[in-house]
Amino acid sequence: MAAPRDYYEILGVPRTADETALKKAYRQLALKYHPDRNPGDRQAEERFKEVSEAYAVLSDPEKRAQYDRFGRVDLPPGVDFGFPGFGDLFEDLFEGFLGGPRDRRPRPRRGADLRYDLEISLEEAAEGLETRIQIPRAEPCGRCRGSGLEPGTRKVTCATCAGRGQIRYTQGFLTVARTCPHCGGEGELNRSPCPDCRGEGRVGREHLLRVKIPAGIEDGSQLRLAGEGEAGARGGPPGDLYVVVHLREHPLFARRGADLLCDLPATFPQAALGAEVEVPLLRGTATLPIPPGTQNGEILRLRGKGMPHLRGRGRGDACFRVLVEVPTELTPRQRELLEEFERAGQEGGSMVARFREQWKKLLGG
Ligand SMILES: [Zn+2]
Ligand SMILES: [Zn+2]
Repeated sequence: MAAPRDYYEILGVPRTADETALKKAYRQLALKYHPDRNPGDRQAEERFKEVSEAYAVLSDPEKRAQYDRFGRVDLPPGVDFGFPGFGDLFEDLFEGFLGGPRDRRPRPRRGADLRYDLEISLEEAAEGLETRIQIPRAEPCGRCRGSGLEPGTRKVTCATCAGRGQIRYTQGFLTVARTCPHCGGEGELNRSPCPDCRGEGRVGREHLLRVKIPAGIEDGSQLRLAGEGEAGARGGPPGDLYVVVHLREHPLFARRGADLLCDLPATFPQAALGAEVEVPLLRGTATLPIPPGTQNGEILRLRGKGMPHLRGRGRGDACFRVLVEVPTELTPRQRELLEEFERAGQEGGSMVARFREQWKKLLGG
């Protein structure tokens, strides 16, 4: 150690200097005399050690009080203030300004997000539902309460890095810090892992969860259940669960937005004369008027009988596409009537008559 000099003098601060002033002074001097900046300069190295020692004592309230009273501090023998690397120095100071020492150990990690695919019927999508889903996920171990330690035991300090989580190599004036390979940077070792989770602190478990599906949900929608994903590592927060909703195909209805589409076969007389027919809905039935003269492929709507709008009020429509059926097998009586119908109906205005007229015009022209 260098000859005892006044620590305040070394840092160039008054005895009343507060923590911030001490840090500022130390930062300036440490950067000035850092061995990386002064390769081979013994004097700078000595100054750097002095500055480090002065700061180490004065930045510790207990040691500072002792120093102020007795003019010296009993430092344990062999104390080495080391050469923090440049980056470390900046980081240490920066963290120091923000408050609290820098923790080099691995941080708690957030648990993974999970995905669950849920298939529901169109009816369920229309009404909304509350259902239970079972998801396999990692949860905090009950035996060790997530610590990974056999209850009643403690972790032991890693001998390789002396609990620092880092190993420092000094190459000349350069100091390189590496994560300790023995403890993975934790600084501690678990010598008595909990048998239930094998030291992981988490166990795989089937978790039963209530999910509420809102009415009107679209195929492929994702519901996010915050915090229902995997448990975090080292006490980190859990991830989220995403429930992806798939709509099962319906035998009668197709969905277009909030509208429901359904093919509705109708007989030729129903389409020509008009009729009231019973049609299916997602729940129950309704009466649909087919107006006289309805054409094949025409779409008839029942307002407000479709899917509910996911956001907002009301419902879409139930839409029926009329498919006029041409009879293929006729009884003699039916044949007779249709032939009579054909002979009786040669007046203009029909699609067939218009087509014939145009065709004749084309041939005549
Ligand atoms: Zn270690
Ligand atoms: Zn456990």
